Amino acid sequence: MSGRTHARACPERTCVGCRERAAKKDLLRIVAIEGVCAPDPRGTLPGRGAYVHPALVCLDLAVRRRAFSRAFRVRSALDTAELRRYVEQATP
Ligand SMILES: [Zn+2]
Repeated sequence: MSGRTHARACPERTCVGCRERAAKKDLLRIVAIEGVCAPDPRGTLPGRGAYVHPALVCLDLAVRRRAFSRAFRVRSALDTAELRRYVEQATP
């Protein structure tokens, strides 16, 4: 089980808020479910994912830039209220 993947570099993703690259594990995966941005902390939900730092500054940047709509390739704005609550709770 262990030892097979340790040699690989840890995967990186770009935060859709600040546009900086970070280790996948340091970012929060977001998926869009019926027009709502949902946090996917375990990375198990199916579909296209977007990554953002679990911080309000990055979330606000992403919302202002409509980065989620772009990431999920939808034309309408996505509901981020629930996601915002999640990030607020996750950050001290
Ligand atoms: Zn960020």
